Amino acid sequence: MTSRRRIGIDLGGTKIEAVVLGADGAVTWRKRVTTPREYHGTVAAVSALVTEIDRLTGASIPIGIGTPGAWVAATRTMKNCNSTWLNGRPLLDDLNALLANRVRIANDADCFALSEALSGAGAGASVVFGVILGTGVGGGIVVDGRLLNGPNAVTGEWGHTPLPYLRADTPLEESLADRPCYCGRTNCIETFLSGPGLAKTHRALTGERLAAVDVPTDSPTVDLYSTMLARALAQIVNVLDPDVIVLGGGVSNLAGLASGVSAKLPRYGFSHEGRTRIVLAEHGDASGVLGAGRLWPSC
Ligand SMILES: [Zn+2]
Repeated sequence: MTSRRRIGIDLGGTKIEAVVLGADGAVTWRKRVTTPREYHGTVAAVSALVTEIDRLTGASIPIGIGTPGAWVAATRTMKNCNSTWLNGRPLLDDLNALLANRVRIANDADCFALSEALSGAGAGASVVFGVILGTGVGGGIVVDGRLLNGPNAVTGEWGHTPLPYLRADTPLEESLADRPCYCGRTNCIETFLSGPGLAKTHRALTGERLAAVDVPTDSPTVDLYSTMLARALAQIVNVLDPDVIVLGGGVSNLAGLASGVSAKLPRYGFSHEGRTRIVLAEHGDASGVLGAGRLWPSC
């Protein structure tokens, strides 16, 4: 049967959240369970949530799953998951075997970008770059309402490219030491622009040990952070020239970040004339699950 309803599932390392979206995109049902920290338990937990929804709705509704990590079509396995028990596993094929081939899966930053492009801060724009500034730094690209995907399943992963012009732009950062990244390289954007990266910069500049959310928004640390973010995003604009860049994740809540970056961006671009809109996400923490629900077209 066809249904314009959709199931969205946010498969995280600590919890799995499932929602049912009505034909108008509104959430009509929601449930959270703790993520079992092993593969077969995780598959069973997702399957149980869907079975419960099937029973409640009396229908077989298409399912989208967002998760940190990526499905690699060539190997039919997951990779880069912080829920490491999923890595190397045929998660999508196993779920589709259990759930009658109605499952799609995408990276959680991609789901965020899709949600914001279709019904959030990027609605109506042609090219949207969605940015997550949280525990990690990720991104996703939506063009005319469709997620961009490539053969390596890394579209939008700007967090693991080098921070541009490090120690060559502002005197304040000259004292910052090199930062090894878990990916094996050094001075990745994520090591400076994630929440832990911001906290580390503040400690290096002031000696104060504060969580990222507690760093004063009028401090030199936050000014340097927004400068670094502008430098990093200028590279994206040079390559992609998106209409809108949507900032999400915990660090995006720093007061004045979007306008600060917007003002600095032209300084670092090739020929930027200030036409890139930089905006804050509208859906907050719900973006992942809402975007997952939009992985299947709703008509
Ligand atoms: Zn890295």
